[in-house]
Amino acid sequence: MKELTSMQNKLTLASLVASVPVASGKLLIVTNPYNGDVVGTVETASAEDTQRAISTALKGGKILSRYERYQVLDTAKKLLINRKQEFAQLISSESGLCIYEAEYEIGRAHDVLLFASIECLKDDGQIYSCDISPKGKQRKIFTTREPLNLAVAITPFNHPLNQVAHKIAPALAAGTPVILKPSEKTPLTAIRFVELLYEAGLPPYMLSVLLGETKDIAEVLVQAPEVDLVSFTGSVPVGKKIAQTAGYKKVILELGGNDPIIVLEDANLNLAVELAAEGAFRNSGQRCTAVKRILVQQSIAEEFTKRFLKKATEYTSGDPSNPATKVGTVIDEASAIYLEEVINQAVKQGARVLLGGKRSGALLEPTVIVNVPRNAQMIVKESFGPLAPILTFTDIDDAIALSNSTAYGLSSGVITNNMEYAIRFIKELKVGTVNINEVPGYRIENSPFGGIKDSGLGIKEGVIEAIKCFSYVKTFSMPW
Ligand code: NAP
Repeated sequence: MKELTSMQNKLTLASLVASVPVASGKLLIVTNPYNGDVVGTVETASAEDTQRAISTALKGGKILSRYERYQVLDTAKKLLINRKQEFAQLISSESGLCIYEAEYEIGRAHDVLLFASIECLKDDGQIYSCDISPKGKQRKIFTTREPLNLAVAITPFNHPLNQVAHKIAPALAAGTPVILKPSEKTPLTAIRFVELLYEAGLPPYMLSVLLGETKDIAEVLVQAPEVDLVSFTGSVPVGKKIAQTAGYKKVILELGGNDPIIVLEDANLNLAVELAAEGAFRNSGQRCTAVKRILVQQSIAEEFTKRFLKKATEYTSGDPSNPATKVGTVIDEASAIYLEEVINQAVKQGARVLLGGKRSGALLEPTVIVNVPRNAQMIVKESFGPLAPILTFTDIDDAIALSNSTAYGLSSGVITNNMEYAIRFIKELKVGTVNINEVPGYRIENSPFGGIKDSGLGIKEGVIEAIKCFSYVKTFSMPW
């Protein structure tokens, strides 16, 4: 599969140290998860290249004014929209996400660039008058944000563009140089995006992108004492390893999720069905905030399941490049095989597959499954694919307990028209976000976002919060 068959029309990209391509002669080959075609290659970097990226960033260069940072991000936004088709095809072919999802992702990255550019033009400095207590003084304390010396961004495969944009744009808005280590499964989109930022006027020292052996790149960056911040989005085990090895620096961890959508008996059932399906199947179920458990009140479970089954048939899976396809592949065949095993295990424990469940290579049909025991692997652990397990609960106490029963705490959706119930869920769910009458993944790109428990340390991202992470507050005081 990974053979270099025909290299014609394939992208030949390289890791970039401050815009200069590395020349190691070692290639990472990226294939299309749907058909195994080679999509492109990336020249990988070495441990020495990693050190060079660090020293080049620290050496610095032209310091951009707020307006210049605004211009870079605004120009990048316009370039991205001009190249929407090119980026969408690249995202789709290296990730297996269908073209519809790839285009949707470009819209999200557009918003990230838009909001980050707007933030460049604002200053969130504060003033504290000091004469406000009996022993107060005639002084004022002021706050101002300073960029970090160097940040590292490590990103996963599931949103090849948007995850990268969500780290790079806030870092640049803050004026902080950043070294990006994207997923080796989707590096092409990331490198193209970095090139686009240089084209938009970014001084090269502000950004490098490195692919290569974990021990030469990711681990070196995480442990480097010169790095002030590691911003990581990815799986729980890797996130916890980073927390253990990063040493004395800021660490932002956005990790896995096992989000429920909770449907109460008073809910608008058609809305519940639509949101549950969108949450479970969009992006091939590969969103940290995808609906991974559908929890339905027993009294309406039969009717909900009937309507949900009908809705699920609309999510046709197949060739990601076909505009009619709604669900492309998962990231690779190994992941699809894992999901298939998880389904089979649940079936052995008494679950019933009502729709889908069949696999062909990396393509797994959207799968609706009922009678899933509460201790089944697909309920307890994160399954990163288009699985829709439906579980029932008796009352609100049971729903809250079931929802809180996993190690994760990212987000949640609650479908109800009862305000009292809504408030109880908002207060009692142990998660970073509760969305009433929306999918767990609902957000805008500048609202605070992030989980607790195994889903993260409770430090939020989203453009505005991320800019705070990628900078530090300096206070100064003056007689005033
Ligand atoms: P992953 O396996 O943890 O990889 C994420 C990134 O970490 C990749 O760039 C990977 O590089 C790198 N990495 C691997 N080992 C490392 C190490 N020892 N030190 C530092 N970096 C290392 O995650 P994934 O499979 O790509 O992504 C799926 C996961 O991300 C899911 O669990 C999903 O829920 C989570 N996610 C969370 C959020 C959120 O905001 N909470 C958003 C999206 C996704 P290589 O590719 O080279 O291995």
